Amino acid sequence: MTDEPTTDGRRTADRDFEVDLDDVLEDDEGDEGLFDDLLSGEPIFENKEVLRPSYTPHELPHRKDQINNMATILVAALRGETPSNILIYGKTGTGKTASAKFVSQELEKTSQKYSVPCEVEYINCEVTDTQYRVLAQLANTFIEQNRTFVDSRVEELQDLREAAEDDPSVLEADDENDDHLDFDSPEAVDDYIEELLQEKSEMEDVPMTGWPTDRVYARFFEAVDYVERVAVIMLDEIDKLVEKSGDDTLYNLSRMNSELENSRVSIIGISNDLKFTDFLDPRVKSSLGEEEIVFPPYDANQLRDILQHRSDVAFKQNALSEDVIPLCAAFAAQEHGDARRALDLLRTAGELAERDQSDGVTEEHVRRAQDKIELDRVVEVVRTLPTQSKLVLYAILLLEDNGVHNVNTGEVYNIYKTLCDELDADVLTQRRVTDLISELDMLGIVNAVVVSKGRYGRTKEISLSVPVEETEAVLEADSRLSDIENVTPFVQARFDN
Ligand code: ADP
Ligand code: MG
Repeated sequence: MTDEPTTDGRRTADRDFEVDLDDVLEDDEGDEGLFDDLLSGEPIFENKEVLRPSYTPHELPHRKDQINNMATILVAALRGETPSNILIYGKTGTGKTASAKFVSQELEKTSQKYSVPCEVEYINCEVTDTQYRVLAQLANTFIEQNRTFVDSRVEELQDLREAAEDDPSVLEADDENDDHLDFDSPEAVDDYIEELLQEKSEMEDVPMTGWPTDRVYARFFEAVDYVERVAVIMLDEIDKLVEKSGDDTLYNLSRMNSELENSRVSIIGISNDLKFTDFLDPRVKSSLGEEEIVFPPYDANQLRDILQHRSDVAFKQNALSEDVIPLCAAFAAQEHGDARRALDLLRTAGELAERDQSDGVTEEHVRRAQDKIELDRVVEVVRTLPTQSKLVLYAILLLEDNGVHNVNTGEVYNIYKTLCDELDADVLTQRRVTDLISELDMLGIVNAVVVSKGRYGRTKEISLSVPVEETEAVLEADSRLSDIENVTPFVQARFDN
């Protein structure tokens, strides 16, 4: 993918070096090294990283209400109580993940400050998308923590044991600071250490596949409950998990508290899909949705603020012309108020300006960035199509290439069949191909409109919505399709007769 062009935007690989290497090496005056010149010729970015999605900002303008809301609910954890479960909704790029991560960092920070055992476990369910994997990942995280816990406990006890050699009275717990048990003798400490180490040796990791789910769940349950704590489990992209694997995970997690003895579990679910709870078991739905927080789309003014905050750190001073941020904000506001899109645009515009060796980012760079991002999206969508859809799309492309526009399904189907023959691929029915065309339409790759042909009924007229050349290049890069040689004659033959 061309999303991140060249090496960190520094263009070391593709630049023409106008300097003579000998000149540079011979010149030992001053401290200018070989790369100083090249580095200083980069006037656009100060710190590009802050424009990337992986960066968690410390300040989130226009999300104060949502953040305070979350904090008000989660503060219970710091009091050793169980916070209500929270369901967070909003379209992509509305700051859900960034806000939730910010709040959890703050929560963990404060819990350390006051030594309250409270942890947040973050899981991205788009990546970890089955009940098995979610439970296994959680189990292993807690098992790891429990091991660390045992280690530090054992260390304390060993210190205590040593101190007892000189002064046996240290073995009695004092009331003010009774963070250790009362021991009768140094041997009792040894026994306890032994017991802990035995427990530790039994803390076996859950393998990433292979166990029955019951067993994974039991192991997870045991691991969470090993010590007293409040565990906040944050399930990001929770709609993907439910879509892929149903609501069993949520059901299991949401009824755990009635059985846990030492610990408490609270769930934060984050969803891009506002309707996903329709698919949940009513019990899960009411438990998970104890508290709901909505993240509305940003408007253009809010996006401007967000971009302004980031660009102050990301760009060199005066690198942006005045209309750059407003234009990025306006484009992204059309894109359902998506801050991710706004930041992508700004970063890409900066990269284009940099590639041009231009002094600053202009409106023109933003427009080109908008086109580039759109093209990248198309390329990615086409690249990841299943082979059959690629064949259908290729058929439409070939027709277009030969000057045949607004083709109908029958014409596409004929070329498609020829391509399948050529490749020894299975030939789908015309009906299936019609479905695939509708899918391509939904992905924004083709445009299919139903037109009435009077008494001949209705047919679909199909045209391409993507640039021919780039799309063709992506298709031909597919190893299966690259076997097609010289199909043009087939196409032409069809129209000649
Ligand atoms: P979501 O999880 O809702 O899809 P993210 O939290 O991932 O959205 O936000 C997308 C991008 O926009 C991230 O880079 C994030 O840092 C940034 N972002 C979103 N909202 C804000 C905000 N209010 N202030 C600063 N950056 C924001
Ligand atoms: Mg997110």
